[in-house]
Amino acid sequence: MIVLRAYKTELDLNHVQKTACAKHAGAARFAYNWGLSRKMEAYRAGEKRPTAIDLHRELNALKKTELSWMYEVSKCAPQEALRNLDQAFSHFFRRVKAKKAGKQVKAGFPKYKSKKHGVGSFRLTGAIHIFEAAIQLPRLGQLRLKERGYLPVSGVHLLSATVSERAGRWFVAVQAEVEIPDADTTGKAVAGVDLGIARLATVSDGAQIDNPHALKQALGKIKRLQRTVSRRQQGSANRKKAVQRLARAHSRVANIRQDTLHQTTSRLAKTKSAVVLEDLNVRGMLKNHCLAQAIADVGWHEFRRQLTYKGQWYGCQVFLADRYYPSTKRCSHCGNVKSEMGLGPRIYVCEACQVHLDRDLNAALNLLHWITASSAGIHACGEDVRPGSQATLAEAGTEPQSTSCRFV
Ligand SMILES: [Zn+2]
Repeated sequence: MIVLRAYKTELDLNHVQKTACAKHAGAARFAYNWGLSRKMEAYRAGEKRPTAIDLHRELNALKKTELSWMYEVSKCAPQEALRNLDQAFSHFFRRVKAKKAGKQVKAGFPKYKSKKHGVGSFRLTGAIHIFEAAIQLPRLGQLRLKERGYLPVSGVHLLSATVSERAGRWFVAVQAEVEIPDADTTGKAVAGVDLGIARLATVSDGAQIDNPHALKQALGKIKRLQRTVSRRQQGSANRKKAVQRLARAHSRVANIRQDTLHQTTSRLAKTKSAVVLEDLNVRGMLKNHCLAQAIADVGWHEFRRQLTYKGQWYGCQVFLADRYYPSTKRCSHCGNVKSEMGLGPRIYVCEACQVHLDRDLNAALNLLHWITASSAGIHACGEDVRPGSQATLAEAGTEPQSTSCRFV
């Protein structure tokens, strides 16, 4: 099976290379913002909106006169930025359509890119070569990598490379078409997985993954750094330094969270033939102020997204139990359903069969039961395989379920 996947790794740049990369990111941002203005102008004048190709042609003409600085960077950077802009518009129109159809989405008109959120990124296509400890990109030449041997040196078809900056560190993400062996699901079991706040995931086979609470732990430090930033004079060098320190603290939180999520979803996707998750209404839950920060800190939506795409690589199907399935209130032992189960008690005690179970394990077992009970539905749903893109997942989070069994 050929799959499209990305490999992201840190670059080890010298000062000259950092400047060159920043120039490319600047050109990409300029082209994006310029294109956005051009599109809006055309709309106001009642003309047809120019496409990325039209805009690139126009930009090339401007390069000869007022934008001569753009000759310093690869032509790919502005070109790909204009392509991104076209993408942003088509996503916008899709959301407008969904909104008209009665879905709860924000239309979200494309925004200008600001330097405030860091240097940004740019994408290059064309002659990309990967070596053991370096990557060669058009115009930028060989850039050293911090990690050896992570990027695929051979046997892949490279499509593009995206260079980005975050909190002073530079990264490259390589998009590649990779041939992966067909998934072997023999001897693998189905699992129910309950996602929680105190514990990130509880698997029906008894495995438990703790939540690192990355944000909660760093919150004190982040608040302090935030205060320092606001005390520094606008535009001063010391403010810049404080902003940089704050960005590093934020990026550390994001890295810890991502690391746990990646390890957990990889392990599940590789060892299970199917996983059942609860169809949580994450967006609705985030409206609850008391829980919002804790929920956002866990990253349930990201968990589902990762498990879905990794599941396609390793042959693990992902199912969502319907939203009204009482996975918390039901007894996984005898099937009795409680009328009330608050958020407090950590132990599930059944009035009917007197079983004592860990609350989350009980929920995970119920999710497993849900799939075995509707196993006739697995095949029916299994045929209706949809690509696990972010778009379909976003929809999955908003639309009410009509069918009892659903394939992500
Ligand atoms: Zn019971």
